[in-house]
Amino acid sequence: MNTTNSSALFAKAQLLIPGGVNSPVRAFRSVGGTPIFMERATGAYLFDADGNKYIDYVGSWGPFILGHSHPVVIDALRLQLEKATSFGAPTELEVELAEMICNIMPSIEMVRMVNSGTEATMSAIRLARAYTKRSKIIKFEGCYHGHADSFLIKAGSGAMTLGVPDSPGITIGTATDTLNARYNDLESVRVLVEANLNEIAAIIIEPVGGNMGVVPAKQEFLTGLRELCTKEKIVLIFDEVMTGFRVALGGAQALYNIQPDLTTLGKIVGGGLPVGAYGGKKELMSMIAPSGPVYQAGTLSGNPLAMAAGIATLTLLQNENPYPRLEQRSEMLSKAFQENINRAGIKATLQRVGSMMCMFFTDREVWSFDDAITSDTKAYGKYFHVMLDSGIYLAPSQYEALFLSVAHSDEDLEKTITTHRKAIV
Ligand SMILES: *Cc1c(COP(=O)(O)O)cnc(C)c1O
Repeated sequence: MNTTNSSALFAKAQLLIPGGVNSPVRAFRSVGGTPIFMERATGAYLFDADGNKYIDYVGSWGPFILGHSHPVVIDALRLQLEKATSFGAPTELEVELAEMICNIMPSIEMVRMVNSGTEATMSAIRLARAYTKRSKIIKFEGCYHGHADSFLIKAGSGAMTLGVPDSPGITIGTATDTLNARYNDLESVRVLVEANLNEIAAIIIEPVGGNMGVVPAKQEFLTGLRELCTKEKIVLIFDEVMTGFRVALGGAQALYNIQPDLTTLGKIVGGGLPVGAYGGKKELMSMIAPSGPVYQAGTLSGNPLAMAAGIATLTLLQNENPYPRLEQRSEMLSKAFQENINRAGIKATLQRVGSMMCMFFTDREVWSFDDAITSDTKAYGKYFHVMLDSGIYLAPSQYEALFLSVAHSDEDLEKTITTHRKAIV
């Protein structure tokens, strides 16, 4: 595959942009090689700067459950583009999208639009702290909630209560307010709550782990978290930036039938434009400015183009209900992968929830970060490059999800399965 233009662009980009990219994982550091620069996309396909075509399983990291450049979404954008791209004043579109979100997710009574998932989670935490008048939060090792300071903290093993920053530039003060528990391990949460009685403002979790590969939550674990939070008056935040409208229309909270106090959204809700949102109980949300004292704002928040793309996407998802078909096709794909794995006799474990899946290069079952990191990331890198050279674009990291979209055809899946068979031996 000729990637001359991508290589030249990357060389220039590295002089102008840190690492040549505007978000780290795009740089291919964990799989080796140089990133492919993209030019256009339609349906399940990406076309790069050298004219190569790829079957895409990244979907811009989650938003494109309908495939790229869906004609209905593009029409909605075109229509709005003719009217205005921003007002800095309220629009009917914001009301419409807010109403759709509240209808789809009954735990959300009021919602505030922001511009990214990161903004949504950091604002939700601020609100939870204001509401409870407490400082500390509990998150889970391996869960990603965007790049705000509070979330870039990982507990060293054996020192679960001691926060250590994951990045320079984060103060010790911030680090000590973030506690890490183990995913799918309710006891690890109980220990932290008991050691910090009446100090925990919020527990934030990806109700299906999607940023350490794909790690499903066990039902008892999420049910137990809900009970614990209610009992200890802790705000339970489901970070559904990835899972919202993905694992089910109503997100993981619908799949597991659990009502969080706050929910954060992003990715699909913006239909491929930069949108985040956070919402939940009216009692909490009415504390947000200007109806309450918790300040949070945004010059381009609720941007009309972004709202139009979000409305078009959610409307299609509501009307067409692609979830049963996506489930069936995702199951077919993961079964075929499993057959390939069995035939090759390699160490690999598949995890899948709906149209999110991950092949871990480990023989362990993967239920936590500790399990996930037993993966052979070199083996993933090799597999990734064989797939890429055959025109199949996977996430350039072991610890990301493969996303299936409505647009992937039978032929796309067949080609993917055949290539996978050759790539893993
Ligand atoms: C992607 C993601 C975020 C961050 O969203 P950005 O729009 O990249 O800031 C937060 N939480 C989860 C679960 C995500 O998958």
